[in-house]
Amino acid sequence: MSHRNIALFVAHVGCPHQCSFCNQHIITGKEETATAADVDRAVKTALDSGCRDGQLAFFGGSFTAIDRPYMMSLLEAAKPHIGAGEITGIRVSTRPDAIDEEVLEILKEYGVEAIELGAQSMSDEVLRRNRRGHTADDVRRASELIKSRGFEFGLQMMTGLSGDTDEGAVFTARELIKLQPATVRIYPTVVLEHTELARLYEKGEYRPQSLDEAVNLCARLLLMFEEAGISVIRLGLHSGGNVEDGYIAGAYHPAMRELVEGKLYFDKALSLLREYEGGPSHNYKIFVNPKEISKMTGQKRQNIVQLKDNNYICNVFSDSTLKKYEIRTEED
Ligand code: SF4
Repeated sequence: MSHRNIALFVAHVGCPHQCSFCNQHIITGKEETATAADVDRAVKTALDSGCRDGQLAFFGGSFTAIDRPYMMSLLEAAKPHIGAGEITGIRVSTRPDAIDEEVLEILKEYGVEAIELGAQSMSDEVLRRNRRGHTADDVRRASELIKSRGFEFGLQMMTGLSGDTDEGAVFTARELIKLQPATVRIYPTVVLEHTELARLYEKGEYRPQSLDEAVNLCARLLLMFEEAGISVIRLGLHSGGNVEDGYIAGAYHPAMRELVEGKLYFDKALSLLREYEGGPSHNYKIFVNPKEISKMTGQKRQNIVQLKDNNYICNVFSDSTLKKYEIRTEED
């Protein structure tokens, strides 16, 4: 079920490790971590704006790894709002090694509905190099525990981490699909100031993905998840925080998803058009679902221009029998 997120950030508290890429203050744009008073304020603001089905979302740090009294103060603050029907429940994000039976019991009792795990990679070597402090097996174990307790379950992965490759990311996606999350978020790595990756990058020991590389890879990953019936609810870092200010290098674009979906449509169209016998230099009609026309066309008609560069002169038409990401082509 989809809800409006009433987002609160637990900033960089509670992390037993310092991941190579992480600078939560920059990602969230927050210096301060949320307090119980912030919970009340955020719910009131949502109610004042007419939101009646909001889900309180504790994002940013690792919710179940924060100081227990602090975690409990946030849950206690949220509880009366659930009781009063002002919010539907709570969503949290956390680390795989900060999940056990005891903490899940507490989350259940306080109305947490959804848990997202930052897996980031399913390669132990990539996890180690990026100082995640947990293993791929921790992700598997935590995922099974969360699902067995009936929480809505989401996973997050990254691309372009130190030591990772395209094939490594495809492996990670396959492993995440086996865990059957309801949702996935994909974050291409961005090198932010005051991080370990920034130091490695400046010493020439880490090469981040270019935007094109990340877009090409994410188009493959998006298709893999969608074909497995898993909804990709986020692609790329939010543009809301201070990412632009703290940006040093890497694959960042405020409309990353649009670029990735455009690329996915381009690749599908090109592969279908190549099947026509007699070679290129023809005019073609490309059909997609009416809601997907702008994605097929691409930003600034980029896909149509690139297809023309490949000698395929194309026009895009709508066909409401086609599903999202489905394409049909005809010679014109
Ligand atoms: S666990 Fe999450 S919040 Fe903590 S350092 Fe790593 S990425 Fe940042």
